[in-house]
Amino acid sequence: MKRNFLKTLLAIAVTGALGATSLVQVVHAQDKGPIAISMPTKSSARWIADGANMVKYFQEKGYKTDLQYADDDIPNQLAQIENMVTKGAKVLVIAAIDGTTLSDVLQKAADKGVKVIAYDRLIKGSKNVDYYATFDNFQVGVLQAAYIEKALDLKAGKGPFNIELFGGSPDDNNAFFFYNGAMSVLKPYIDSGKLVVRSKQTGMDKVSTLRWDGAVAQARMDNLLSAYYTKDKVDAVLSPYDGISIGIISSLKGVGYGTPKLPMPVVTGQDAEVQSVKSILKKEQTSTVFKDTRELAKVTVAMVDAMMAGKQPEVNDTKTYNNGVKVVPAYLLKPVSVDITNWKQALVDSGYYKESQIK
Ligand code: BGC
Repeated sequence: MKRNFLKTLLAIAVTGALGATSLVQVVHAQDKGPIAISMPTKSSARWIADGANMVKYFQEKGYKTDLQYADDDIPNQLAQIENMVTKGAKVLVIAAIDGTTLSDVLQKAADKGVKVIAYDRLIKGSKNVDYYATFDNFQVGVLQAAYIEKALDLKAGKGPFNIELFGGSPDDNNAFFFYNGAMSVLKPYIDSGKLVVRSKQTGMDKVSTLRWDGAVAQARMDNLLSAYYTKDKVDAVLSPYDGISIGIISSLKGVGYGTPKLPMPVVTGQDAEVQSVKSILKKEQTSTVFKDTRELAKVTVAMVDAMMAGKQPEVNDTKTYNNGVKVVPAYLLKPVSVDITNWKQALVDSGYYKESQIK
């Protein structure tokens, strides 16, 4: 309080020389922020882009930002958030590592009047989540599975084909939405026998991949291949995320897939990360799902801006994301399926990547 008062006095003194508009600007800039942005990890390019985009758009609107990455370590993220609250954050924008671990720190934040936006991943078990900015996560899974359906021509009754399923991290609510979305397409074919899961490993309790770790997925794929595919070949692998796809593909290559005798199965993905787009061009990974993180950052900044002005942010979903305590009002963006036929249009023409980054 005292400090703000002094700052305002200083502003007024400076204004004597600069004119009345500057006073408005100085006081305004003082009001705006800091916005604390807590991201999970730098090990995946998408989160780096998310953080950078948000800082850019917040700053364009005159907000101060405090961006931190937590190295996929839960206590680290908790400590970072706590520290941001202590330092006076007005709003917390959080992509949680484990969506269930934040209740205490968010209560402390709420007690100080700090607003909270769940970014991309739902924060669970807390009433102190104001809004959720994300993509249509169920649709991500639908797109992944629809790609397999089309590539194997399942609608025309082709099959049976062998498939193995991978899920994302079980502490990330999104992982269940991706899996359920995918299964809404695949299950009828599994039930009718047109898709066969030789390992019989279905359900998130069996197919999840802790922390979305590609090495964990690679080890599981190694096991699946040696236990169930010494005679049979695998025709498709449902992968929820590009980093997992990379692990799966190296495992497949390790036993000779990717040759004319043993072609690569259909392998899906998500995030359109550079390495995976390159892999698609090499005909190793088959598809990915592009989520334009610039748009997500813009939606988030608009939400914060509205809240700070005492207005209601725009949302387009008020029923899907129940976090166990409340349904969090959400804005869902549309994901886009990308493969070798449309990568340029989706990723380069849109300005998301430069062609030179891919080729
Ligand atoms: C995000 C995905 C991402 C995954 C791994 C999910 O919560 O929605 O875009 O692939 O985390 O980082």
